[in-house]
Amino acid sequence: MIKDNIKNINDIIKHTCENSGRDENAAKLIAVSKTKPIELIQEAYDCGMRDFGENKVQEIVDKYPVLPKDIRWHLIGHLQRNKVKYIIDKVYMIHSVDSVRLAEQIQKEAEKADVHMDILIQVNISNEDTKFGLNENEVCSIIEEVSKFDRVHIKGLMTIGPMTDNEEDIRLVFKKLKQLSVDIQAKNIDNVSMGVLSMGMSGDYTIAIEEGSTYVRVGTSIFGERNYSK
Ligand SMILES: *Cc1c(COP(=O)(O)O)cnc(C)c1O
Repeated sequence: MIKDNIKNINDIIKHTCENSGRDENAAKLIAVSKTKPIELIQEAYDCGMRDFGENKVQEIVDKYPVLPKDIRWHLIGHLQRNKVKYIIDKVYMIHSVDSVRLAEQIQKEAEKADVHMDILIQVNISNEDTKFGLNENEVCSIIEEVSKFDRVHIKGLMTIGPMTDNEEDIRLVFKKLKQLSVDIQAKNIDNVSMGVLSMGMSGDYTIAIEEGSTYVRVGTSIFGERNYSK
């Protein structure tokens, strides 16, 4: 079942890329495996998946040692500064950086561990106040500050689409993130590139791809509904 889901989604991703005039490999699937057990992650791995997304530090810490080492773990959820040390040598990319203080902590821990860390700046375009992320006006100044950390490398932007069925509202949010990345790229800031746009989830990833997404973060459509009751 997971196998069929992954194949279906990858087909849809390719078609959507092509239909919007992009290279068929322009958008990559991240399997969001939060709350899901090792066996299901291994199953997705055996179908060829290598990029997995988790939103909790503890889950990455638990899953990392027992799964293949060539998995690229993406931290996609809110990250507390005191937990950076647990994941600094385990994750491939942190999608959810939303403050200079967090970036500074990543710099510190990266120095200690002698690694470099690729990050995305999380932007809250939809301005729903329950969500983390910077508002559009703050983004530029914060990126300029974060760019000075020599072990932290900004690769692009991330956002979570609005909780609505209104396609045009969702599309507008993704369009704005894309435009923001173009504006930032034009500033040519040292140590900042805008090649990555992390946007789109199970309900809205085709819209996100049409608007320029390079990473879609899909959980439910691969693994089924999550059960938080345990
Ligand atoms: C859970 C989660 C996803 C995946 O959501 P689905 O609707 O299950 O595809 C994507 N991005 C973030 C930040 C998440 O927390």
